[in-house]
Amino acid sequence: MLKVAEVTKYYGDFLAVDNLSFEVKEGEIFGLLGANGAGKTTTFRMIMSLLEPDHGEITLDGKKIDYDTMEKVGFLTEERSLLTKMTVEEQILYYGRLKGMAEDVILKRLDELLERFGIWSYKKRKIKELSKGNQQKIQFISAIINEPKLLILDEPFTGLDPINVKKFKEEIFRLKEKGCMIIFSSHQMEHIEQFCEKLVLLVKGKVVLSGYLKDIKKEYQKMNIFIQGGVSKEELEKVPGVLKVVQVADEKQVKIQDESVIGDVFKVVKKYDTRKFVVEEASLNEIFIEKVGEVL
Ligand code: ATP
Repeated sequence: MLKVAEVTKYYGDFLAVDNLSFEVKEGEIFGLLGANGAGKTTTFRMIMSLLEPDHGEITLDGKKIDYDTMEKVGFLTEERSLLTKMTVEEQILYYGRLKGMAEDVILKRLDELLERFGIWSYKKRKIKELSKGNQQKIQFISAIINEPKLLILDEPFTGLDPINVKKFKEEIFRLKEKGCMIIFSSHQMEHIEQFCEKLVLLVKGKVVLSGYLKDIKKEYQKMNIFIQGGVSKEELEKVPGVLKVVQVADEKQVKIQDESVIGDVFKVVKKYDTRKFVVEEASLNEIFIEKVGEVL
């Protein structure tokens, strides 16, 4: 288990991370969210033992994170760090050896991963000759070559086409099934919703939301109803508990206070011809915007 316990980090007088705590268990995918400058990179750096917390402690399986623990950790960070004059094979051998792996084990796993990502033919090519997306695949392969116990993914899908996003996701799920702990950050909330069962939302270094995604959604209570049919915007707005009605093309999107309002909205809608009446939980994007907005 990765345990981040009451961690605080200052840059000089500036408080970048304020008393942050969370846990990630084997086989869990954890979302670290926050607006720009919230403290995500600082937190990743502390977990990667590149920065020392001023207070608190970070442990992996009960042992304080330090340089030795890093053999079990893989990371894809925002600062893409490829040695572009090397060939793909040289690069991966270099990273694999840094993680204490034997050469034959590295090469076997490299072949497997290159095949899976459809870039086997690039093995002897220099990194600088590869497209940006393919360089990203090599960076990802470097991060997972050692089948890490803990994998840190900072915006892993930036610059990837949808087919490659799918390939990355499949690989991430494969690692999860094997018990890898994954910490994931993205500004695209739909990726977080698809992936993360648990999350922390930071604003200016402070936690404003944390826990299991399903509990966060339940607690938030607000829901959306998508309606296509004859009912007017004005009539919907009159229903007690309706917070907002937005017309998008031929659809009305109705935000309600909680699920108790659904029946009252339906009573009004059913007086008219109705083609669509779909109720959905609030999206993580809505929750993010509201929570971050309350603080900033
Ligand atoms: P983004 O989403 O924009 O990448 P982030 O959540 O990763 O942001 P951090 O990079 O951790 O945020 O930065 C948190 C805060 O700490 C920011 O206000 C940033 O300006 C500040 N900060 C980061 N690194 C340093 C540094 N080396 N010296 C001083 N301040 C820093």
